[in-house]
Amino acid sequence: MSIRTPLIAGNWKMNLNIEQSVALVKAIAEGIKGISGVDVLVAPPFTNLYAVKQAIGNSEILLAAQNMHWEKEGAFTGEVSPQMLIDAGCSHVILGHSERRNLFKENDETINLKVKSAYLSGLTPIVCIGETLSERENGWTFDVIRNQLKGSLRFFTEEGRMPASVILAYEPVWAIGTGKTATPEQAQEIQFFIREWIKETFDKDTSDQVRILYGGSVKPDNASALMACPDIDGALVGGASLKPESFMGIIKF
Ligand code: PEP
Repeated sequence: MSIRTPLIAGNWKMNLNIEQSVALVKAIAEGIKGISGVDVLVAPPFTNLYAVKQAIGNSEILLAAQNMHWEKEGAFTGEVSPQMLIDAGCSHVILGHSERRNLFKENDETINLKVKSAYLSGLTPIVCIGETLSERENGWTFDVIRNQLKGSLRFFTEEGRMPASVILAYEPVWAIGTGKTATPEQAQEIQFFIREWIKETFDKDTSDQVRILYGGSVKPDNASALMACPDIDGALVGGASLKPESFMGIIKF
């Protein structure tokens, strides 16, 4: 049996106002009562974090932001610091999501700065990696994944150790929001490769403990097959995390 508790994380992206966010998290808190053996996390937009934290109350739902700046404070108009996220109630932060990489030109260098800053500030980073369709079709998937791991986790590779609390999310870009899920075999192949890279770069204990999520059109009807794979430790869910029924369907995989 895996020593890793599965994590189901909902990335709400730029959706839902405060009232809708509060209603959704309350429905999830109600839905997970009596369910054990799975961690649940939501990542609302910045402006809804504090209200969602209040609505979470005593429930064990974890709160994440979808991005942050690496600096502590200063003249960075439009940015949000790690401490601000902690103040709002976050314990986690999603970093390097493919939408940040592709639409906002983030790269491994800036993602590494964010990962380092999140970790040193006490936030648990959820670091996203994944290949595009053309990279896959050209046979470059393993090189792309290896380079993203090396680049976005450079702070840890230079330290020679990575805390087992760091969470990775394999999200093939071609499967995000497209309805096209990677097959369990395709996902498992890459997730195994990621775990082997952690073992070679750090050590076996770390690779045994680090949670590697799969993300890309996860739905209630494909969640259990994905979750049955030995190296898939949960899901990062976009679209299906916006409705209590579909998110709960995934949590109950
Ligand atoms: C995501 O944005 O991280 C994601 C996986 O989205 P979706 O589930 O909608 O494909």
